[in-house]
Parts: sequence; structure tokens; C-alpha cells
Amino acid sequence: MNYADARRVASELEKLGYSATPHAEDADVIVLETCTVRQQSEDKAYNKLHSLRPMKQKRPDLTVAVMGCVVGVRGNQSLEEKFPFVDVFMEPSTDGLPLISQLQQEEDHTLEQTSTAKRHGLQDGEIILPADQRGKLVSAPVSIVYGCSHACAFCIIPQQRGVERSRPIGTIASEVRSLVSQGVKEVVLLGQIVDRYGYDVANGPDLADLLATINDVDGLQRIRFLTSHPNYMTDRILHAVADLPKVMPQIEIPIQAGDNDILRDMKRGYTREEYRDLIHHVRATIPGAAIHSDIIVGFPGETREQFQKTYDILDELRLDKVHLARYSPRPGTVSERRMADDVPDVEKRRRFHALESLQKEILQEEMRHYVGQMVEVLVEGKHKGRWRGRNPQNKLVFFNDPGDQKGKLVQVLVNHAGPWSMSGTMASRSQSSAIKDRRDQTSDTIPLTVF
Ligand code: SF4
Repeated sequence: MNYADARRVASELEKLGYSATPHAEDADVIVLETCTVRQQSEDKAYNKLHSLRPMKQKRPDLTVAVMGCVVGVRGNQSLEEKFPFVDVFMEPSTDGLPLISQLQQEEDHTLEQTSTAKRHGLQDGEIILPADQRGKLVSAPVSIVYGCSHACAFCIIPQQRGVERSRPIGTIASEVRSLVSQGVKEVVLLGQIVDRYGYDVANGPDLADLLATINDVDGLQRIRFLTSHPNYMTDRILHAVADLPKVMPQIEIPIQAGDNDILRDMKRGYTREEYRDLIHHVRATIPGAAIHSDIIVGFPGETREQFQKTYDILDELRLDKVHLARYSPRPGTVSERRMADDVPDVEKRRRFHALESLQKEILQEEMRHYVGQMVEVLVEGKHKGRWRGRNPQNKLVFFNDPGDQKGKLVQVLVNHAGPWSMSGTMASRSQSSAIKDRRDQTSDTIPLTVF
């Protein structure tokens, strides 16, 4: 979400005639995007801000802007007092408007903005990628709903990002079309509860409608979306994933904990049994779907027995990816105000590592079935000399090839699979055409015996 927000601000700056530089020392404008989801992220933001102070002292004409969750949607006076050298403070997801207005006031950029927008044929809602990403970016995040109105007990996001606001479907489609015209092949549609897209608009389109619209964008290869919430995943959405060819079979749906009392205290709004039923339903509706989840260990009051239930359900459901976090109280949240952070850090770490090891074992086994299979890979770029991309289930695939494969969809015959990635050999052109002919009979894998 922060990456998507930052990219839209960068786009507005490009329209004014600015261009990106890799070195902060060379910049006329520095925009710091910040996160408060954990204490560590917040500390990082403050450290970076402190490091900008000498730069601003040396060059008073430098414009420094701070955006994102440390600013929040309700203003942050103590931040403004602590960092008086900052010129502009911006809420999350503002498209950089306060900064753009200030820069426009300082210099008359209006003419240049018009000409830059015209030069790139930009219409309303369309964005321009920074020059160093144009034609090079393969996958881009696109925010579709801002904020969250759910208020889980541990989460600071509703306070910092405000209530849920869906972006108009036409603006999102324009953004996607402009990204595709600049080389992007995959978009990742983002929302804190992405399946609530359109809920805040009377008779508005829902996520299934949006997926169908984006699926029609010419030149786009793949669509993903995240993050879902178990209470809002509908059959319409699942069928859209199953039926629309560009929507990838990947559902990101956090469980957070496997014990019902902890789930109740977290104010998540579902039980472990309901989550289990939903996962079976997703798998029945979208064969071969990858399911990703989030888990927090050491939530206030979590006993060893309650943690064991989280361990057991993860063992039972054998999910494709789990983002693990150790609970850390965020100031102002319900859990911080009303519950004691009573699980010792050493125990949080033990639980974290227990789930990490379990997940590694599960994936070690589950990934084996890819060996000997042909997978379709969207190539993102090179990593340590090898091409790196992802299959429809978002699993990492590596292969060697002397040609330029970036941004292409290729077929790779997998000959090795570990828990976190697989590697193999790119199929020849004739093998790829054979796969194309057989595409209707399979989802993403084709047995080697075909050849
Ligand atoms: S649904 Fe997600 S973003 Fe919203 S409050 Fe809960 S954890 Fe935070």
C-alpha cells in the first residue's frame, strides 16, 4: 500500500517535470513514506527523518515531505513540533496533493505540467511511472480501497489510514491501462479488506465487477488482489477468480490465530471452524488455489494451549505461505489500552520459530509435486545471474537463459523445488506451443510426460 501511495506521488512529481534520482543528496524534493505497523517500522521512519535534518540545514531550499502512517489521518502535532524542518506533512493515500500545491506555489509549474501530461498523452486518473521504471516494471500495486473500518484489537491501521473509501472503478481502470501502456504486465489490487471494495458506495460495483473490468484491459497478463478477510469473501469473488483467465489463483486470507477465545479478543469476527470451512470452500471452488495467511503469535493472554491450536490448524490446512509476526502493542489500539502484553518475548520468539519450522516442513513436502511439471512463469527480472519470476500461485521460479526474458510469460520445466522457490529449464518454443494448445485442459501445471 505504501509502495503504491509513493508511486502515485512520484507520478504527480513527474507530471510537474521532476525526475527520480537514486541519491538523496542530489534531490530538490525528498518525500519520506512511513509505516507504523510495528514499532520497528516506526523507529526506522524517525531515524531516517533525523538523518535528513543536516541536509535541510545545509540546503534550506530543499523541500522535505513526510507522508504515510506516522502522520496519520488526524494530523500529528508532536511530529510537527519534533521535526520543524519538514515542509509538508501528508496523510496516507493523498496522491501528494499538499506537496504538489506547495511546489506549484513556489514555482510556476503549471505550463510544464500541462506539457508533460500532454507529452505522455495522459488522461484523468492515468499515472506516469518514474522514468527509471517506465518499460521496466513488470508488476505494479494499485490501491482500490483506502483505509479500514474493521478495527481489529491489535491494529493501528484504521486510526492511521481512516475509514474505508473505495476508489471509482473508472479511475482504477485508467490507472491500470496507463500502467500497461508503460510496460506493466501484472497488477496487484490492494485494500486492507480488499473484498469490501464498493461496500461504501450505494449500489456500487463489487470486487468481482472490478476484476471483470480489469480482466478486459488489453496487454495486461495477470491480476492479483490482497488482502481478504474471512467474513467478506463471497462466492461472486471466488467464481471471478476461477473464471476470469487473467485473475491468478491466489487468495491472501489471514487467520491471525487458531484459538476461538483469542480470535474473539482480537475482534476478528470469525471462529477457527468458520475459517477452516472457508479454506475448504476456496479449494473446492478454485482448484489449485494458493492460500496465504497471516498469524500473530503472543497476543495478550495467549497460553501455550491456545498457541498449540494455531499450530494444529496450520498443520491441518497446509497453507502456501504464512506471514508471521510477534505481537507488539501499538499505542492507541484496543489491545494496547485494555490488555497486558503478558507473553514474554522469549516465548513469542519460540512460538514464532515453531510455526516457521512447521511451515518450512509443510512447504518442503507440498512443493515436491512441482518437480517434473511445466509451470507458466511471468519473468520479473534477474537475480544473482538467473531469471526470476512467479507461477500463477505466486511461487518463485528461477531458470537460466541467455535471452532477454524480462516481462515475458514463459514455460519452465521444474527440476528442483525447495520450500520457498523452485528452479528449472525454460521450455523450447515448440514445447511452449504444445502447452498453449493444451491450456484448456489444465490450470498451471503440465506433466512432463506430455513431451
Ligand atoms: S481488517 Fe486488517 S487493516 Fe483492518 S483493522 Fe483488521 S488487521 Fe487492521
